[in-house]
Amino acid sequence: MRITVVGTGYVGLVTGACLSETGNHVICVDKDQRKIDMLLRGETPIFEPGLDSVVHTNVKAGRLEFATDLDASVRASRVIFIAVGTPPREDGSADLSAVETVARRIGRAMNGYRIIVDKSTVPVGTDKRVKELVSQETQHRFSVVSNPEFLKEGAAIDDFMRPDRVVIGAEDDEAIDTMRSLYAPYMRRGDRLLVMDPASAEMTKYASNCMLATRISFMNEVAALCERLGANVEHVRRGMASDQRIGEHFLFPGVGFGGSSFPKDLLALVHMGQEIDHRMTILESVTAVNAQQKRVLAEKVKRHFGGDISGRTFALWGLAFKPGTDDMREAPALEIIDSLLEAGATVRASDPVALEVAGELLKGKVELSEDPYAILDRADGLLLVTEWNAFRSPDFDRIRDSLKEKVLFDGRNVWDRRFVEQHGFTYYGIGR
Ligand code: NAD
Repeated sequence: MRITVVGTGYVGLVTGACLSETGNHVICVDKDQRKIDMLLRGETPIFEPGLDSVVHTNVKAGRLEFATDLDASVRASRVIFIAVGTPPREDGSADLSAVETVARRIGRAMNGYRIIVDKSTVPVGTDKRVKELVSQETQHRFSVVSNPEFLKEGAAIDDFMRPDRVVIGAEDDEAIDTMRSLYAPYMRRGDRLLVMDPASAEMTKYASNCMLATRISFMNEVAALCERLGANVEHVRRGMASDQRIGEHFLFPGVGFGGSSFPKDLLALVHMGQEIDHRMTILESVTAVNAQQKRVLAEKVKRHFGGDISGRTFALWGLAFKPGTDDMREAPALEIIDSLLEAGATVRASDPVALEVAGELLKGKVELSEDPYAILDRADGLLLVTEWNAFRSPDFDRIRDSLKEKVLFDGRNVWDRRFVEQHGFTYYGIGR
């Protein structure tokens, strides 16, 4: 099948690459000339495990192309995926301007029947809006499909190639049949394609992300109570997770959730409620608890030093919002760094892949190093913010010998308190 994917970000590039992997011909289009130039030079603009090799293989096979010319791509494709960003506006609502611009341009460019598939996360009712905008621009027949994406950064290729489910929100059989055949190669273990009306598909994406975020905030709230009452949240978590009704996923307390999805999707769903006078009380609290949680680690640092950390230097491991990605959108590290800097401290940080992104975001405010051990020298403590595998079993002797103050602030509960205390550290975790 001939396909265009508009937007070559975390979702669009993975979608385009994986669709070409199963034999389709895909043109990935972006308005960002710099991104397209990089891709044409054989460079991948984002870090995502395994993405490089899928892109290279399919470019070489002539199935994957990159362009900035949307019109020509639309004319050459039967199916057009929209995978542009939908960031939060000031009032929390999703900014649909990129989706709307692309919809209009598709309408203007199409020269026959097209299936327009919305992969971006969009509020309920957006399919109708897209239909309206496209039909204002064209006389040709078209279908609009809502096909929200559930991939996780850091495991995106695997998630796309072996999805838990594919949600298709569509009303006409022609589009449903096309989507079915497009996704059939990824459903070899059994049909996990869920067909529903577009409004339900759009809502499924928000409800899923908000549920996951709710579990995290819930556990962070439990962790805070554990800490005050002398319980260990790690024991509690295991005790809860072994109940099959609860399950083990997304029960890890930490420094709060970040990323491009959870925070913005919570705001957007709350806003959708507000628009019809329906208050989303739980979700408002999930956001509030998360905002509080992002301050917890820096507060532990301040408390350890009697409230005054001015003139002190801290080493911070992990900048990406989670392991496996270079994405730093809404990353807890940003808030922790700001809080330490505001209190007069100096921060040095290391991350296995996010240093380039961090360099742009932090603009010289923080000393960055590829070597996590190099930033420890005479520092007043080490904060673990992102639980990259490489940080799970570090050389504690080397850490102790480098640090001036032998104190660890473990924002992800990955280090064993007894073990590190035996190595001569003072240890702070979350909720234990
Ligand atoms: P992103 O910011 O990484 O990428 C968006 C891309 O769209 C950018 O490269 C941008 O240049 C391009 N773009 C914007 N306007 C354009 C236009 N008019 N024409 C062509 N290109 C244009 O965003 P992302 O993280 O890939 O997210 C895309 C959507 O998918 C969002 O709605 C997001 O909520 C959703 N989503 C994201 C994830 C994730 O893990 N990142 C997972 C599931 C769903």
